[in-house]
Order: sequence, then structure tokens, then C-alpha cells
Amino acid sequence: MHELGIVFYIADEVRDVALANGATSVASVTVELGEVSGVVPRLLQDAWRWCADREDLLRDCELVMEEESAVTLCEDCGTRYGTVAHGRTCPACGSPHTHLEQGSGVVIREIAVV
Ligand SMILES: [Zn+2]
Repeated sequence: MHELGIVFYIADEVRDVALANGATSVASVTVELGEVSGVVPRLLQDAWRWCADREDLLRDCELVMEEESAVTLCEDCGTRYGTVAHGRTCPACGSPHTHLEQGSGVVIREIAVV
């Protein structure tokens, strides 16, 4: 299960930041979900609740999710375009030589410790 691996990764990062700041609890963690990451927000939320509530430090810590749009770069003409709208073919020059620049992962943006 993809989402479970991601929440363990988020929990590790949050735990490190909390301990480094001498915090005893964490109010919230904000993550950006890539538009083409394949992560299902509802499943991620469920997995987070289950994982976080197992330990005192993360109990009741809220997971805030924001969407990061997917952007593809054309290697031939340098155009950046929306991946979801146009896929792998550059809408400016028709080139198939493109690669995904952002929007495929999960990035932690903010951790609010108490
Ligand atoms: Zn192009």
C-alpha cells in the first residue's frame, strides 16, 4: 500500500523536527501532493490518522494536504506546460522529448510544533 509508506516517511520527518525543537506535540503537518503522484488523499488521510495516533508525540496532529500541479518541460523548445492537460507531447512544438518537472511526489511544506 503506497499511502502507508508515505505516512511512515512523513511521520519520521515530523518526529525529527519535533524532537530537534524540543516539542512535546505537533499541531499539524502540511504536505503537497503531486497532481500525478497517484496518491489518493482520502487513503492518505486515513493512513495518517492510524499511524499518528499510535504515538503520543503525533497524536491529534492534523495532516493538511495541498495539491501541487504537474508541470512538464519540453527539451526541444523549452516550453513548460500542464501535464494533465497535454500529456507527454509538447503542445507548442509537438515534440515527444519531454520530462515531468514537478507534480509526481509528496513534499512536506510545513510542520507546526506546539
Ligand atoms: Zn516543445
